[in-house]
Amino acid sequence: MPTLTEKKPTRPTSRHHGRPLPELIFGDLWEFDPAPETADPKLKARYDLFIGGRFIAPQSGKYFDSINPANEQKLAEIAHAGAADVDAAYQAARKAFDTVWGRMPGKERAKYIYRIARLLQDRAREFAVAETMDGGKPIKESRDFDVPMAAAHFFYHAGWADKLDYVAPGRRVAPLGVVGQVIPWNFPLLMLAWKLAPALAMGNCIVIKPAETTSITALKLAEIFQDAGLPPGVVNIVTGFGDTGAAVMSHPIAAKVAFTGSTEVGKIIMRSLAGTDKKMTMELGGKAANIVFDDAPINQAVEGVVNGIFFNQGHVCCAGSRLLVHEPIAKEFLAKLKNRVRVLRLGDPLDKNTDIGAINSKEQLGKITELVNSGVKEGAEMFQPACKLPLRGYYFRPTIFSGVSMSHRIAREEIFGPVLSVLTFRTVDEAIEKANNTAYGLSAGVWTDKGSRILKMSTELKAGVVWANTYNKFDPASPFGGYKESGFGREGGRQGLLDYCQLV
Ligand code: ADP
Repeated sequence: MPTLTEKKPTRPTSRHHGRPLPELIFGDLWEFDPAPETADPKLKARYDLFIGGRFIAPQSGKYFDSINPANEQKLAEIAHAGAADVDAAYQAARKAFDTVWGRMPGKERAKYIYRIARLLQDRAREFAVAETMDGGKPIKESRDFDVPMAAAHFFYHAGWADKLDYVAPGRRVAPLGVVGQVIPWNFPLLMLAWKLAPALAMGNCIVIKPAETTSITALKLAEIFQDAGLPPGVVNIVTGFGDTGAAVMSHPIAAKVAFTGSTEVGKIIMRSLAGTDKKMTMELGGKAANIVFDDAPINQAVEGVVNGIFFNQGHVCCAGSRLLVHEPIAKEFLAKLKNRVRVLRLGDPLDKNTDIGAINSKEQLGKITELVNSGVKEGAEMFQPACKLPLRGYYFRPTIFSGVSMSHRIAREEIFGPVLSVLTFRTVDEAIEKANNTAYGLSAGVWTDKGSRILKMSTELKAGVVWANTYNKFDPASPFGGYKESGFGREGGRQGLLDYCQLV
């Protein structure tokens, strides 16, 4: 079977006196001293449900453990909400909507949302550490992206709250009432901000459920809601598993439901709500292609491809998990890519040098391993660098498959791990056809020197977002969402607000 896993290279014994270094020793030369983050995440031993502005125990009395995937240690106990708790959350939300939030002028609501944004900034380091410990992502990601971007979403939407007359020019907008939201584990705090900020700005009240493996930053944000004086019941956080999520999605008080997660669960929810008058938005899976032409700035494109799939362990629904590379440069590009991947640092997510942290859960590690094994079995050539894996925790080496064809499972199914499938193309049309040949359509990347080609590709690619000569760039002002089985509805920007209002 054509499998290639490198042996750890030995340290060079002599100096190189300016001569070019052999490729394989990069990883060994760049050993850094450990640089663990020291901020205290201020975790509680046990987290209750956040309903009506207070933390309250679940009626069932049941709790489950939240585990640090980097070392398998228990971080805290989290309440498991049952149907009665979800109902209490909806009752609190409806009361808050009817008596306070739904009637409050937008410019007053804006003050609370600004306050939340500022308090989150004040506690940014603490939140970044908590996010990394709970989810396994490298601290440099949570510190430099997740937390600042979450604050940016609150700031941006606070700015809209007193300008809602401009959301749908010529029409007046009104809130929907109470909305139910369920989010996944890959961006626990950021997804929370994406869901909460537009709903709040528009005047809705909310019942939201974080993912079972990553509830901690949501509950820490509830502390910020208390500090900000947010009226009780405006945001209610119920934690638990799929049963809790199903209760949140199906509750009769919910005027709208918003879900981000797997296509499989999204379809279950859509089926269960068919025939109801609930509004719905879905942000589901993806199988994005990064398309690199022979006139692309190659080193920049290599960096973009690495950023698109390996940073954050590929735990991104818009991850560039397929590389389509133009045949004239395919060999050179793959060689450069492997060299870059050899020097990625995998390990303790709390270390500031770490590029690839822990896989979010044992279950997710199992799914990645199964799909990677299928790639090997189906005859693709696998490359993994020789980096050491920590002895405890859930880790997976960055993996590149070449010789992949469209029929392979690794080219079609979402892997949600640091695994890249490389395919080649000869013409623009072939690139478009291959990129679109998937059930998904969330995002894509195009790397080329030609503006006209960028315009053609961005028109013809069936993807909600097309990045050109960059990847994974986000801004609260730019709408994000999918085509086909990647879902419907947009989050961010004016379009995102339209999904949380009715036109009157
Ligand atoms: P992933 O594969 O990314 O873990 P899931 O779709 O399984 O995504 O989970 C995303 C969110 O959906 C989580 O908060 C999870 O608890 C929740 N969930 C799982 N099953 C259901 C369901 N049947 N109805 C509503 N929410 C669910």
